[in-house]
Amino acid sequence: MINLLDFDADGLTDWFARLGEKPFRARQVLRWMHRCGVDNFGQMTDVAKSLRAQLAAVAEIRGPVPVRASTAADGTRKWLLDVGGNNAVETVFIPEPNRGTLCISTQVGCALECSFCSTGKQGFNRNLTTAEIIGQLWHANRMLGAVKQPGVGDGGERVVSNVVLMGMGEPLANYDNVVAALKLMLDDNAYGLSRRRVTVSTAGMAPAMDRLRQEAPVALAVSLHAPTDALRDELVPLNRKYPLRELLAACRRYLENAPRDFITFEYVLLAGVNDRDADARALLALTRETPCKFNLIPFNPFPGSSYRSPAAERVRRFQEILVQGDVVATVRKTRGDEIDAACGQLAGRVRDRTKRRQAVVVAPPARRSIPLEAPA
Ligand code: SAH
Repeated sequence: MINLLDFDADGLTDWFARLGEKPFRARQVLRWMHRCGVDNFGQMTDVAKSLRAQLAAVAEIRGPVPVRASTAADGTRKWLLDVGGNNAVETVFIPEPNRGTLCISTQVGCALECSFCSTGKQGFNRNLTTAEIIGQLWHANRMLGAVKQPGVGDGGERVVSNVVLMGMGEPLANYDNVVAALKLMLDDNAYGLSRRRVTVSTAGMAPAMDRLRQEAPVALAVSLHAPTDALRDELVPLNRKYPLRELLAACRRYLENAPRDFITFEYVLLAGVNDRDADARALLALTRETPCKFNLIPFNPFPGSSYRSPAAERVRRFQEILVQGDVVATVRKTRGDEIDAACGQLAGRVRDRTKRRQAVVVAPPARRSIPLEAPA
């Protein structure tokens, strides 16, 4: 069976052409799947019955299977989605008064081993498919009641207004599947999100940033975390491959074709490690030539980690130095941490295939869960 959620618009059009079907048929099916959240060909009332039967014989629309849903007191919601092989990934919805942000995962685990990230500690199993990546948005829209009701105009409200690829995994290490999913997010026949409202976050895969700029230039966040190569080598081992100079040059090239005129630098604040005044000043010097904003993320602890989060006063002072240096710097509010949905806390369920973590057991803490909801 071919899962039609694996295709972006061009892919679906090509596949339809091989069936002898016209591009507008592919467009209709794309709309049913993504705008209406339909997973049953029978519901596609404006598609010829014979074609529906033909599709049902060879294809399916298979979204990820939710195994647990949790809601935090602040309204943050987290879904654990089964992706087979005893693996599961997490998706988080963060409601705010003026927007709703969905944070999606791109890999089962992560191979980058950033020292402060719980996903990294879980090891790596595999890349998510396009269907599994876009399926997280598809699923969230269904759960949040945002899908358009067939035949009722535009239907429900668009609850997910922003998507960030900041869940489990390194998006640019799963380039092709991520780009296909991004194209669906931007496609008017699918999710129709603006390029400014879709953000890829990368630990700094410089060559892939160059490709993304050409092929799906969305907003870009880069996980910087250190002002020097010596420290960054330790916190983000990928830095040994693409050191700061190279990374910042790639950021500046990205801006030539980006929907926003700045790069967002994410900076996790680790007490006594990268949170001194001198670090903030070094960051100003480092990024002088690169239009940017800083998003400071006080470290979110997880079981087995030895880092600590700085005191509020230290965070404030760090921010102040950046702001005084004329750089916009915000402090990321922690959302949903009692359901382990905050940055760096997404662990999912990863059967590590690298075996590198055998010595370190990071037991997922028992958490309250609520029964699964039916699609609204
Ligand atoms: N691999 C991509 C996508 C992950 S995004 C990247 O590195 O950008 C998740 C963000 O949360 C990254 O900026 C990551 O560095 C940050 N993060 C990871 N662990 C964290 C923790 N324990 N506390 C706070 N932020 C963390």
